[in-house]
Amino acid sequence: MKEEIVRYLRDQGADLVGVAPVEAWAEKGRVPEAYRPGSLWAPARSVIVIGLQMPLPLVETTPSVQHMELYRTCNRRLDDLAFDLTRWLNRRNAAAFFLSRDGYASLDILLERPAAAFAHNFAAEYAGLGTVGVNHAILTPEFGPRVRFVSVFTEVPLPPDPPLPENLCIRCGACATCCPVAALTIPKERLRSEEPVVVADYDKRLCTERHKLLVKKRCYPCGICVKVCPVGDDRRLYGRENVLPHYLREADALARDPDDPSYRAWTHVRRHGSWPLDDEPPQPTAGGERRREEKP
Ligand code: SF4
Ligand code: SF4
Repeated sequence: MKEEIVRYLRDQGADLVGVAPVEAWAEKGRVPEAYRPGSLWAPARSVIVIGLQMPLPLVETTPSVQHMELYRTCNRRLDDLAFDLTRWLNRRNAAAFFLSRDGYASLDILLERPAAAFAHNFAAEYAGLGTVGVNHAILTPEFGPRVRFVSVFTEVPLPPDPPLPENLCIRCGACATCCPVAALTIPKERLRSEEPVVVADYDKRLCTERHKLLVKKRCYPCGICVKVCPVGDDRRLYGRENVLPHYLREADALARDPDDPSYRAWTHVRRHGSWPLDDEPPQPTAGGERRREEKP
C-alpha cells in the first residue's frame, strides 16, 4: 500500500513523501507525550509526511507580497493534500486523520501559547526527509529548509523510511547572522562543537513580533533564516550555490543605498503590493480592509 500512497501523492503534486512509525516519538523522547501521534489519535500506527518546496527565487524576495502569496499557496496546497489523502485512505477502508499545516488563529494567540497541537517538523525528521538545522528548521537534501510539511496519521502499519545518515547543517551560522531581530543566537564555539545536532537559542517572542510587523505590512512571513541557508539541491538548479556573501552584505548594502543595483530585482518586488517596512504600520481603513492576519 505504501507504494500506492507515494504514487498517489506524487501524482497530486507532492515534492517529498516519507513515512514515520508512531513509535519514533516515544523512542526519541523529544516531544511531550500529549503532542505525539498516538496521544492525538489512538489508532495511529504510521505518519505519512508530505513536503512541498518553496521555490528559491521567490523566497529570496522576502519580505514581499510575492513571498507571502507563495507561503499561503504552499500551506493551502498542503492542507488540500492532507485532506485528499485522508479521504483516499478512508475510501480504501483505512482510517486516517490529519491536523492542518498551521493550527493557530492569530499571532497574538501564538505569543501567549507558543506551541501548535502537533509539530510537523518532527514528523518530517522521523520520516527520513531531513534533519534539524541551527535555524530550528528541517533541512532537506532537495530544498534545504525551503520546504513545508503536513502529516497524515493512519491506522495502517506502513514500512517506515530510514532517518538520514547524517545531519545536513554545515553550521555556517548564516541563519543567525542574517536574522534581522537577533532571534537566533549561537556562540561560535557551539557551531564548532562535536555534538551531532546543534541549534541556536531561539527567542520566539522576537521572531513572532517581527512577523506581526510583517503581517501589518502585508509581506509576512520573514523567512530570512530559510532564504540564506546554503543547503539544498535547489541551489544548483537555480545557479545560486555560492551566494552567501551576497546575502550577508544585503542589509548593510541596502542601508547605505536602497537602490543598490545588485539587489534591485528583490527591492523592485518588495516595493510593489505591500507597505514599506520603514513607515509606521498603516491604520485599518474605515471601510474595513480585508484582514489577512497570518502566521509565520
Ligand atoms: S524567521 Fe526571521 S525573525 Fe524569525 S528567526 Fe528567522 S530570520 Fe529571525
Ligand atoms: S544557514 Fe548554515 S547554520 Fe543555519 S541551518 Fe543552514 S547550514 Fe545550518
